Amino acid sequence: MQQSSTKTSLGEMSYTEIDTVGILRFPKLEQIPFILHAFSTRKGGVSPSPYDTMNLNFGRGDSDGNVTENFRRFCNASHIPYHSLVSSHQTHTANVLRVYASHKGAGIFKERPWENIDGLLTNDPGVTLVTYYADCTPLFFVDPIHHAIGLAHAGWRGTVAGIGIRMVEAMKTEFGSDPTELVAAIGPSIGPCCYEVDEPVMKQFQNAPQADLRPCIQSKENGKYTIDLWQANRLLLQKVGIPAASIYDSKLCTACHSQLLWSHRATGGIRGGMAAMLGIREE
Ligand SMILES: [Zn+2]
Repeated sequence: MQQSSTKTSLGEMSYTEIDTVGILRFPKLEQIPFILHAFSTRKGGVSPSPYDTMNLNFGRGDSDGNVTENFRRFCNASHIPYHSLVSSHQTHTANVLRVYASHKGAGIFKERPWENIDGLLTNDPGVTLVTYYADCTPLFFVDPIHHAIGLAHAGWRGTVAGIGIRMVEAMKTEFGSDPTELVAAIGPSIGPCCYEVDEPVMKQFQNAPQADLRPCIQSKENGKYTIDLWQANRLLLQKVGIPAASIYDSKLCTACHSQLLWSHRATGGIRGGMAAMLGIREE
């Protein structure tokens, strides 16, 4: 079958459309041969409005059949095996969980034996980790030495709680990862241009327990604040020992690109959702 394909760049990511399915990737992660990764967009799915068209979130009002078909289409276009997917259950915690090949399909086409897990890690070949987004920050982790990976969902709560640090600590314990050898990437999410918060949320950043996140806060003239979640997560990852030069930023704001990307804020919460996928190739 002939596939139509175009490739451009968006922010610091590469953007490919294959048979209308839009796929974002980090050029630096594409250079690591043992992994597969992709981030979805709104393009190339079968869901009707207001989930149009590529909605990869179950349970938001779209039919399960549509979401399943969207997963199949996205996996086909991005060359990620559908049967390899293992999914989080995100509730804005800083909980991370090691998963195994026996979990393939969990939360996608079979029951998921965990709850309240915002980050997943594995070193099993043939497993692809899946987490969900619509403004929150995706954090990708790759250990090129031990062939291990992690994927974490960091909204403002997860960022303040330091889920990025929790992930690196778990990779150290489970796989013997050395933070100085890790590669990390900060995916599409609401940028400092659009992420306005009130004082109570700002104060949580002021008092973040894991690192000094005050440089990420800007005061606005309207008495509110903007938060730079990208910088906050970068500071956390550097604090735990990942070299600054090994952390890659997407610099892609979901709210600024709400025609292409799902943004909770830009849609008022009536929306579909995107998925981040990061896997280890089958041996
Ligand atoms: Zn923006």
